[in-house]
Amino acid sequence: MVKVSVIKGDGIGPMIMNSTLRILDTVNDIFNLNLEFIDTPAGDNALREYGSPLPRDSLGKIKNSDVCLKGPVGETAKDVIVFLRQELDLYANIRPFKSFKGVKTFWKDIDFVIVRENTEDLYRCVEDIGVDHAVSLLVITRRRTERIAKIAFDLASRRKRKVTIVHKANVLRSYKFFRDVVLEVSRSFRDIVVEDMYVDNVAYQLIVNPWRFDVLLTPNMFGDILSDEAAGLVGSIGLTCSANIGDNFGLFEPVHGSAPDIDPRFANPLGQILTASMMLEWIAYKRNSRDFLKASTIIRESVEKILDEGKILTPDLGGSSTLDEVTEHVIQHIKEKLI
Ligand code: ATP
Repeated sequence: MVKVSVIKGDGIGPMIMNSTLRILDTVNDIFNLNLEFIDTPAGDNALREYGSPLPRDSLGKIKNSDVCLKGPVGETAKDVIVFLRQELDLYANIRPFKSFKGVKTFWKDIDFVIVRENTEDLYRCVEDIGVDHAVSLLVITRRRTERIAKIAFDLASRRKRKVTIVHKANVLRSYKFFRDVVLEVSRSFRDIVVEDMYVDNVAYQLIVNPWRFDVLLTPNMFGDILSDEAAGLVGSIGLTCSANIGDNFGLFEPVHGSAPDIDPRFANPLGQILTASMMLEWIAYKRNSRDFLKASTIIRESVEKILDEGKILTPDLGGSSTLDEVTEHVIQHIKEKLI
């Protein structure tokens, strides 16, 4: 049995999560994965209903589960995801960005990963706000920098063997410290090419030459901002997925937010569905399970097929299909692949 705590979240969250659960039910049946889904209220809707964005009962459900699948949360995101990353010590935020052949963008063949430190920097949220001042503390520690650096180098050793350290060492000594600690760690990974770059140059290079990157290793806030830019390169933020990983637990969520500005019936569910595929891959790795790996792969390939065909697309990708139509087609492709 694999217990999955499920946070549906806000805005488009419940609809894209219901679509994703239909996909997961399909592969659960096909591969006998023995997944159990535990509804876990959190976010703006939970605040309205239970008086807290992360009720104690929900936190208990997450802690008692094997993995958490999360949808986007609205205004209370800080109380939910920023809190959970720190509370569960989910220190590595892994965000892959890869072009899909069928999606029209100005950039082709994008393939890099942002590895973002997830627990400190300005998002440690140590703040003092008065009537005439506002101060936020930028926290970088050696231990947390070393462990995220190891994750980035390990990942690069399974990819194109290059790590770009993103920082702003010319202005803030905290970021110089981040860069220097990562450079120390890099000495144990001699076969990885290492470069370091100011965050503003990275923002520029992502537009003019994104192919130069393999693994981008960033402090917390820069990773947050660059992720949205990177999502633009692959066509839509509605296609992007991410993992928040600690030593013993993983929380998986799309990169995008709750998108309150769109009609949820036309939201793109594929980022949330790919997030579920990423979750299954992580479980496969943790449990050394071929079935979980097969389930993860079949979901990803079915999504790729829809995008390659380019017929059933939501408006963010230039189409006019609904979320339900896209979901039906993913399920159909999964079933066809098994014939
Ligand atoms: P957050 O601060 O939580 O990241 P945000 O409102 O700043 O949220 P997003 O919610 O990520 O940003 O959305 C950015 C833009 O992309 C919005 O115009 C939104 O409508 C659109 N968008 C985000 N997710 C999707 C999706 N799954 N399908 C279609 N459009 C989306």
